[in-house]
Amino acid sequence: MTRVHAYAAPSEAAPLEKTVIERRELGPLDVLIDIAFAGICHSDIHTVQGDWGPQQYPLAPGHEITGTVAAVGAEVTKHQVGDRVGVGCLVNSCGECRNCLRGDEQFCSEGAVFTYGAPDRDGTITQGGYSEQVVVTEKFALRIPDGLALDVAAPLLCAGITTYSPLKHWNVGPGTRVAVVGLGGLGHMGVQIAHALGAEVTVLSQTLNKKDDGLRLGADDYRATSDRDTFRDLRSSFDVILNTVSAVIDMRSYLSLLDVGGTMVCVGAPAEPLPVQVMSLIGGRRSLAGSNIGGIAETQEMLDFCAEHGIAAEIEVIRASEINAAYERVLASDVRYRFVIEAATFAA
Ligand code: NAP
Ligand code: ZN
Repeated sequence: MTRVHAYAAPSEAAPLEKTVIERRELGPLDVLIDIAFAGICHSDIHTVQGDWGPQQYPLAPGHEITGTVAAVGAEVTKHQVGDRVGVGCLVNSCGECRNCLRGDEQFCSEGAVFTYGAPDRDGTITQGGYSEQVVVTEKFALRIPDGLALDVAAPLLCAGITTYSPLKHWNVGPGTRVAVVGLGGLGHMGVQIAHALGAEVTVLSQTLNKKDDGLRLGADDYRATSDRDTFRDLRSSFDVILNTVSAVIDMRSYLSLLDVGGTMVCVGAPAEPLPVQVMSLIGGRRSLAGSNIGGIAETQEMLDFCAEHGIAAEIEVIRASEINAAYERVLASDVRYRFVIEAATFAA
């Protein structure tokens, strides 16, 4: 076991604090990664606060990890010491079920092992990227393309793949009218990726405060959902709505914005249920869907796509001691557009 500095939540109500966690000895197929940056995803906050169910504490979150390979196990072939790599939300899966074989490791029938707060194969509970180092099976470490700096690449490992995967799955491309709801960490990646795929993109944000940013990121239109005229003006005008909101929204209003045959994909995962009137779907042969991150091969595809199109996250780099303040700002929708922790500060 290696002991590394980390930031972890001691309980669901307490602020995160500096601590020390253990990383397993390097197995034959493992890589040891010196973490450089870890993004703060809203899922970290939901998880720590117990929004999605009880957790075991202390819990170190973090599933937007980039860094450099520091050591490799005897049988590792995918990575070498010195390689620039990333780790997202997944650190293991069975590799043999039909979902894994299709490349959807996130839906592994045996239970995907998520990067933090999940029972690992050895019975321990996984600890995430708010730490100095991590050990993962080589398959679950992604290659960061040369054109992407490690700080702005970190959020791609969750926010990037979580928006790329549904946009690809629902065939977003030239001619597709896409609305992205919420311009936060996921939303600002969704806008850039949908634009790069050739879609016509509209941002639906609570206010117009971030309009300039939205248009600069590639949106063709930007509307405030606090303005009731938005829902009248944009009625039946989208093929795909990507809902990235971390809270409950009025589904009836948003579903009315879908054209006949359109799909609303929810990636935002609020603690409370989203109530839906079935007539909102029936009235336009509309679909309501969900999507969960993406598989490992698709995550690599997304990283390569982002490098090719010059897409990355817009970030604010913070020190570990600023994590709790950053959480408050994320909860207040005051993030432009991802906080990324400099891992060198976990030991400070
Ligand atoms: P975030 O940075 O906080 O962005 C969420 C955005 O939603 C905010 O910036 C805000 O945008 C909007 N919003 C927040 N509260 C709202 C409210 N009460 N009403 C309307 N809009 C509101 O969070 P994130 O990291 O992007 O994550 C978003 C959600 O996706 C979280 O629930 C997270 O757990 C989930 N998630 C899911 C997956 C998956 O695989 N499905 C992966 C990662 C994250 P505006 O200011 O523009 O209105
Ligand atoms: Zn995430």
